[in-house]
Amino acid sequence: MTTLWQGTRCAAVVSVLAAVCAAGAPTLAAQQDMTDVVIETIELESDLFMLVGRGGNMGLSVGEDGAFLIDDQFAPLTAKIQAAVAEVSDHPVRWVLNTHWHGDHTGGNENLGEAGAMIVAHRNVYRRMNPAEFADLVGRSAQAPRAALPVVTFDEGVQFHWNGRHIRVTHIGTAHTDGDAIVHFPRANVFHMGDTFFRGRYPFIDVDSGGGVDGVIAAANFVLEQSNDDTRIIPGHGGLASAEHLREYRDMLETVRLRVASMVADGRSEDEVVAAAPTSDLDATWGEDAGGRFVRAVYFSLTGGN
Ligand SMILES: [Zn+2]
Repeated sequence: MTTLWQGTRCAAVVSVLAAVCAAGAPTLAAQQDMTDVVIETIELESDLFMLVGRGGNMGLSVGEDGAFLIDDQFAPLTAKIQAAVAEVSDHPVRWVLNTHWHGDHTGGNENLGEAGAMIVAHRNVYRRMNPAEFADLVGRSAQAPRAALPVVTFDEGVQFHWNGRHIRVTHIGTAHTDGDAIVHFPRANVFHMGDTFFRGRYPFIDVDSGGGVDGVIAAANFVLEQSNDDTRIIPGHGGLASAEHLREYRDMLETVRLRVASMVADGRSEDEVVAAAPTSDLDATWGEDAGGRFVRAVYFSLTGGN
């Protein structure tokens, strides 16, 4: 199971997540009509914001050093994102931190890179956006233009000392993909979890990009261990969240993982597990698992598809 990104896991994705699976096909994203998209700015502190538009939620630190942006949605939105930054700062985007490689989080890289921003990401983000250089790459990838590629990469993590803040970036193994970054603003008690956290619904676990359910649970636990009642969490998708939202999400993930693991232990096939509807009592809270996409990803995580 190496090169199957065009396969069933993506084909089963419903429209709300189409942009995520379109990551390997940037032209699809570019064809989406973005003219009506408004970038909403949510103030977390006077110089720290969550930005919402189309695609993955963004984080923004502003100050004398320049804007530090977490993720950049789609290329047609770059001018609107820059305008949103200009509303709260006189300084342009100097850094872009990608939480992972998907096109709804990195689509603005080329524009912002050409405008002078330094792009930073986990090294597997660089690899998946630059497969021409990595013949050993397993799973899905898509060649990005040179200006869109990260110019700085990290393995375990990296810290920024910028705009009077310490910004901690940590990589948690194989979670949503194999290149996820979790960003922590300790003084503000704010996290950006990228797509390791979908608030209020089942996650998309991109097993074809090296993701796995245990890493998603580990990511949630990593943040919960550092959280309290005042913590605010920017999820990759969905509204601004609390630690309680994340705890409920973690508990749901553990419940489904346990159920699927016990069926795997009984020797049931992937289709048999999906047919057994292991999320049926949870769907009222978390939404329909269309096509069993989430359950299939959990199954794949636990078995490697065997
Ligand atoms: Zn994603």
